[in-house]
Amino acid sequence: MKTITLIPGDGIGPEVAESVKSIIDASGVQFNWDVVNAGAEVYEKTGELVPDSVYKSIEKNKIALKGPITTPVGSGFRSINVMLRKKYDLYSNIRPVRTLPGLNTPFSDIDLVIFRENTEGLYIGIEAERENGVMEAIKKITPEGSERIIRRAFEYAKSMNRKSVAVVHKANILKLADGLFLETGRKVAKEFPEIEMKEVIVDNMCMQLVMNPTQYDVIVTMNLYGDILSDLCAGLVGGLGLVPGANIGNDLAIFEAVHGSAPDIAGQGKANPIALLRSGCMMLDYLGHEAESKTIRDAIKSVLSDGSVLTADMGGSSTTSEITDAIINEMKKAN
Ligand code: ATP
Repeated sequence: MKTITLIPGDGIGPEVAESVKSIIDASGVQFNWDVVNAGAEVYEKTGELVPDSVYKSIEKNKIALKGPITTPVGSGFRSINVMLRKKYDLYSNIRPVRTLPGLNTPFSDIDLVIFRENTEGLYIGIEAERENGVMEAIKKITPEGSERIIRRAFEYAKSMNRKSVAVVHKANILKLADGLFLETGRKVAKEFPEIEMKEVIVDNMCMQLVMNPTQYDVIVTMNLYGDILSDLCAGLVGGLGLVPGANIGNDLAIFEAVHGSAPDIAGQGKANPIALLRSGCMMLDYLGHEAESKTIRDAIKSVLSDGSVLTADMGGSSTTSEITDAIINEMKKAN
């Protein structure tokens, strides 16, 4: 039986992780769950932010499903989420953004996949005070780092019969760093003549996405732009409670939602588990359990189309456990 590392995380993390675990178990997939935790709550209890058991479990199982982790200020880490992605070289952050049925959103047919470079850019964490209160942050873009994420985006586009890949940059200003990313995009695109490469400057991309998002298909970009565009796109399809994500390296993957720990609603039973659940579906697909993932996705669609059990972020008043039960009931009906 496959063992999955489950990291519930902080804030709403434990609530949505519990929901997702029970829905995946109800899908018929047989997993052992190795539950280990990291983050602010663990730090308060033990003084350790990331206990050794977390690293050991991830390294042994090579697959983790992870809730959001809060990194306390002054704990010695900038962000545990970013640290884990870098430590395990999970260079592809893949975030599919799709319209779901039954929700009141400005567009009805969005189907985008964002590939965000996950290990370099402005997230390398090199900042310094150069002189009297002047701060500098380093943006690191390498040929290898750019090529592997861009190649993964094009390979995905080809395998999924997608039409275009938009390479998002600001090379008109950052001529060297973003210029390298864009040039690498042009080079990789030559190997995929069946896929159209679009070159889009990041500020224009923001405007285009809110005015006419369906003109795009696959998007590939650097770390910070990818983070910002992911939240923007989440807003187009109903918010952060819905959008999943995967961090994939060469032989290890961590699946997590785009959202953070949402301290404003933590512990109130209000959190929407669908973002982490759809991250779990990406994990099932990654592991070859496409049938079970489809059962869960179909059940999510049925519950949303019906519209009587929705959490507050989707315009309803149901709790996390009510929507969990509703999804499991739909799965039972389908079997
Ligand atoms: P981070 O900086 O850690 O990525 P963030 O600034 O993106 O976090 P979140 O914690 O994701 O912030 O929360 C942003 C808003 O979205 C909050 O109002 C929060 O309540 C809401 N939100 C996020 N996730 C969910 C969810 N699963 N269900 C309902 N609301 C959510």
